[in-house]
Amino acid sequence: MIKSTAEVRQAFLDFFATKQHQIVKSSSLVPGNDATLLFTNAGMVPFKDVFLGAETRSYTRATSAQRCVRAGGKHNDLENVGYTARHHTFFEMMGNFSFGDYFKEEAIFFAWDFLTQVLQIPKEKLTITVFDEDDEAEKIWIEKVGVPAERVIRIGAQDNFWSMGDTGPCGPCSEIFYDHGEDVFGGPPGSPDEDGDRFIEIWNIVFMQFNRQNDGTMEPLPNPSIDTGMGLERISAIMQNVHSNYEIDIFQALIKDTAALLGCNDLEHKSLRVISDHIRSCSFLIVDGVVPSNEGRGYVLRRIIRRAIRHGHKLEAKGNFFHKLVASLIEQMGDAYPELLQQQAIIEKLLRIEEEQFGRTLDRGMILLEDILDNLSGDTIKGDDVFKLYDTYGFPADLTADIARERQLKIDHNGFDVAMGQQRERAQQASQFGTDYNQQLKSDHKTEFKGYDNDSYSATVVELFNS
Ligand code: ATP
Ligand code: MG
Ligand code: MG
Ligand code: MG
Repeated sequence: MIKSTAEVRQAFLDFFATKQHQIVKSSSLVPGNDATLLFTNAGMVPFKDVFLGAETRSYTRATSAQRCVRAGGKHNDLENVGYTARHHTFFEMMGNFSFGDYFKEEAIFFAWDFLTQVLQIPKEKLTITVFDEDDEAEKIWIEKVGVPAERVIRIGAQDNFWSMGDTGPCGPCSEIFYDHGEDVFGGPPGSPDEDGDRFIEIWNIVFMQFNRQNDGTMEPLPNPSIDTGMGLERISAIMQNVHSNYEIDIFQALIKDTAALLGCNDLEHKSLRVISDHIRSCSFLIVDGVVPSNEGRGYVLRRIIRRAIRHGHKLEAKGNFFHKLVASLIEQMGDAYPELLQQQAIIEKLLRIEEEQFGRTLDRGMILLEDILDNLSGDTIKGDDVFKLYDTYGFPADLTADIARERQLKIDHNGFDVAMGQQRERAQQASQFGTDYNQQLKSDHKTEFKGYDNDSYSATVVELFNS
């Protein structure tokens, strides 16, 4: 029987291999072919040029288990972690792809057969959405597959027109949802309660037909193609009969180890979920050459690490703990990703350095923040205060926002941006008098990412490793 996450991953790849798909190894989280994209956030990213017709491969059907990070850019789930049962910063997206080979009908049947025949998920647990202009897809689901019409829902472009970014491949899509049952709060897609955890989106099938240009126009792709994404952790939850991704095998192990390390008895604690999520994204980002820094990808990594450390602090962590979880992660995922073990020492070292740096100021920053909260009138923390926490104690704005949210408060993002702008101006003025040390030490976290310099990053890694 298919049950563990490892078994589901394998079953998916095997199924599509029998359907003449080439099994392709997961690519790096740092997209090699796209400097505009922060991280690989979907299984199709490594195939982007193939879809665009700019690159040809020896196969027209592929399948993969792609590591993904959604913690910045267009798809950002950082703030969902700890709040929903289904979002991670790091997750594995299972996918099958057709490069001008099969199209709608076959793609729909592949997904349906895998779920209902291979995994034997009861048909009545599945609800389908289609793009509201896509009569063809609706017809296939109802007339050919035989899904009752009341469980095929038409949805607008917001959710059912998929695109990778502002430009690039896109098209209408059809999504498959699993009903976790009446005991779980939530409503079907398109209903007011759709954001609950009852109906969970498990698979997105994109009918890739267009390439959106810089000016917004849609150019038909040379050959319509298929891109699908199935969240591995969400399917594992179904196969393991649990309602939350955080209750699947991998996460339960990580949560137990984190709890033991921190001496926490409440295995349901939200902070344990956050930490066990963050150790995955942080470790895999480092594996792929990202190093904590003050800009671009490195700054996103730093923000995630600091968020994890803060949640450890909430659980009264004594000293540095985060880097110690790498071993636990390797136990869970080292078989599927041997590079974790190969780079264990460097991952631990980089995380420990971050913990040491941030740990020194976290306590003092929290005292200041508590003070600000005590004296707060209204429900919004002033931009100046958010900036001061950032500037003096290294609290990224989203970390302050995370703490604020726990207390039903907000932060003034605009005010923060203004304060940040003023700081930049001051630094510029200072630089007219000679060397600008400020700029060298710190740069604005909103600095736009200008491309990825592999050589200098790996040089930093080697340097740190040898130090
Ligand atoms: P949601 O609406 O739940 O946020 P999505 O529509 O943003 O999901 P897609 O971009 O369609 O997700 O990605 C394809 C599949 O990847 C989803 O159907 C889901 O199974 C999985 N997935 C997406 N985001 C996450 C995440 N943050 N953590 C875990 N799995 C995810
Ligand atoms: Mg999403
Ligand atoms: Mg969705
Ligand atoms: Mg989707």
